[in-house]
Order: sequence, then C-alpha cells, then structure tokens
Amino acid sequence: MHPSSRRTFLRHAASGGAALALAPNLLFQTPPKEKLGVALVGLGYYSTNLLAPALQLTKHCYLAGVVSGSKEKAEKWQKQYQFPERNIYNYDNFDQIANNPDIDVVYVVLPNTLHRQFVERAARAGKQVWCEKPMAPTVADCEAMIKICKDNKVQLMIGYRMQHEPNTQEFIKMGKEKPVGKIRLVTAAAGFMDGRTQPHWRQLKSMSGGALFDMGVYSINAARYATGEEPIAVTAQQFVHRPELYKGVDETMLFNLEFPSGAMAQCSTSFYMNLNTLEVNAEKGSYKLSPFQSYTGVKGSTSWGKMLDAPIENQQAKQMDDNALAIMNKTAALVPGEEGLRDIRVVEAIFKSAEKGKRVLI
Ligand code: NAD
Repeated sequence: MHPSSRRTFLRHAASGGAALALAPNLLFQTPPKEKLGVALVGLGYYSTNLLAPALQLTKHCYLAGVVSGSKEKAEKWQKQYQFPERNIYNYDNFDQIANNPDIDVVYVVLPNTLHRQFVERAARAGKQVWCEKPMAPTVADCEAMIKICKDNKVQLMIGYRMQHEPNTQEFIKMGKEKPVGKIRLVTAAAGFMDGRTQPHWRQLKSMSGGALFDMGVYSINAARYATGEEPIAVTAQQFVHRPELYKGVDETMLFNLEFPSGAMAQCSTSFYMNLNTLEVNAEKGSYKLSPFQSYTGVKGSTSWGKMLDAPIENQQAKQMDDNALAIMNKTAALVPGEEGLRDIRVVEAIFKSAEKGKRVLI
C-alpha cells in the first residue's frame, strides 16, 4: 500500500466518513491495517516503565517510534525496541512526522503544560492523537485541542486507563443503572506519598503541577462516572504540608461536589498520603473499589455479595488496544477529548473555590 494512501485512509476513518470521503478505487486498494504504529512523545517515568512495556503486549498497535529531547535516550530506546532510526524525532523536528507512514498515532506523555502544544502539532501532522491526563491546564486549552483534532479529522483520546478496566467498567455501569437505588454519597480518594525531595515539574505551578492536576483528576473522573452525572457545584480547601517543596501548588486538596440528583461526592487528593478508594452509598446498598486506580489491579465488593475482581493482564495495553481498535473500526473513542475537558472544567472550579473560600457553581 502506498504510504500516503494509508495516511489518508486513517485520517478519513477518524472522521467516521471514510467510505464516503474516499474515491471507490482508493477504498478497495486500502486493506485494513493490522496494527497501528505509535510514537511516544516524552520518555519519562510513565513511557519508560508502563507504556513501552505495555506496547510489547498490545495486539492492535506497536511502538513504532519516539519523540524525545535527548538523542542518547532515543537511540537507547531504538536499540532496545528495534524500530528504524528514521522514526526518532526531537521536539524541534517533530512536525516532520507528518511525512512518516510508519507512525499512525502520536501519544503525548509530557508534563501537563506541554500537552496542548504537542497535541496541536500532532493533529496538524495528520496523526491520530492520544494524550495523557490531565488533558491540559485550562478549559480553553482543552477546547482548542478538541477543535484542532476535529479540524484535521483525527481522533483525540485521553489516557484515562481506568475507564478501560473491567471492574471499573462494571462500576460505571452501576453508576448508570443504579442497581441499589438513588446514589447519595460517593467517596473518592486518590493520592500517594511522594517522597521526592529533588525539585520536579509536579511541584511547580508554572508546569501545572500539584496534586489536583496529577491525582485529583482520578477522584473527579470517578465521582462523575460513579454517579453518571456532571457536578453543578463545588466547595474546596487546599493544603501544603511541605512548603519547602510545594511552592504555590496544592499538596493536598479536599473537595465536595454536588450533583443535580442530590448526590454528593466527598473527594480528596494528595502528594502527602496514600489514598486509593472509591465508594458509593446508595438508597438500598453500597459498593466500593479499593484500590480503584492502582496499576497492578483494581478490586471491589458490594453490599449484596457480588465481587468486583475480574482480572486484567495490563491496563495500559487494554487502553491502547481499545483505542487502536476504535480508530481502525471507525467507532467512537471510549475516552475522547470531551471527557478530559469535563474534568478540567471541574478542576478550574475547585481552584476557584479553594482560592475564594466559597462554594462555586460549575
Ligand atoms: P516524567 O517527569 O517522568 O517525564 C516527563 C518527560 O518529559 C521526561 O522525559 C522529560 O525529559 C520530558 N520533558 C520535556 N520537556 C520538559 C520540560 N519542559 N520539563 C520537564 N520535563 C520535560 O513524567 P511522567 O510521570 O512520565 O508524566 C508524564 C505525563 O504522563 C503527565 O501528564 C502525567 O500526568 C501522565 N501520567 C499518567 C499516568 C497514568 O496512569 N495515566 C501515570 C503517570 C503519568
């Protein structure tokens, strides 16, 4: 297959109109791709320890290249994962990826403030785009990212791995179906004790660091999928336990969300304590996942004796395979840009509430 034909096919496929958009002869010349080539942008902790190993397990995509600021690191990866040297890019020549038929998907795994820039460049290059959570620092950023992907007819998917995990999917289903009546209270706590003492971007306001952006989006996302509703108001309070490390960002954030049905969510996030619980109290029963966002597994139980303990080999592999299949089959993304945007809308309201010391409407 001619490379540009394949690229064109994938771009139109993302818009959901491949059959109509392509000339009939091109359609028949373009056999479906068996695996999509993924380029990871940013070779830090998550790419190195979770995504690259997971890409060795995926059935519908593979590690085809990298984008890194470090030539040495990229070359080490190229040897380790055996992709062609031509599939290495740096942050300056990244836009040339548009001409590389090996790369179908660009996966942005950079510090939060860089997500928008690289999503926009990837979309302009005509690549499908995966972007890590939190989607971006502001609602305006998220809206711009969604628009540019639409304008360039590529899909944008956010790296919320939990929504691909089977026990979480059961939880999400219960949020929609309400098996034990109206939901009254959700408790969502996501955090970890960050023992880092050296300066890191996660501690910097200028890089959209802090616990809320990093781990708090898990609590927000969970409160939203546990209720199946969008919050209408929030009251929040932020804390710093180690001011020498966390300058101008939240180290812990406590926040209460109010939902249209009357359901409430009591949420927390922190870099100062290990938190990993999601619990729903409803009219006639309760159910929980604890842990609810660990890489190594998610487990839960219900007050009526049903266990939530379906096994999964690898969360990241499942997420990337689901996403690759959605692109290849031209089906809707499970976690599109709009889902990342909804959480950032809540993040903005939480910061406003914590700053003003008042309840804020969303
Ligand atoms: P990290 O600090 O380990 O890696 C960041 C990478 O970006 C490094 O390779 C660094 O060299 C590079 N970089 C480029 N420009 C930079 C700059 N100006 N400042 C700092 N680093 C720069 O971070 P990480 O833990 O890999 O996180 C990356 C992204 O992935 C974040 O958005 C984070 O929220 C997300 N993440 C998601 C999960 C998940 O479970 N979905 C887990 C971890 C991280």
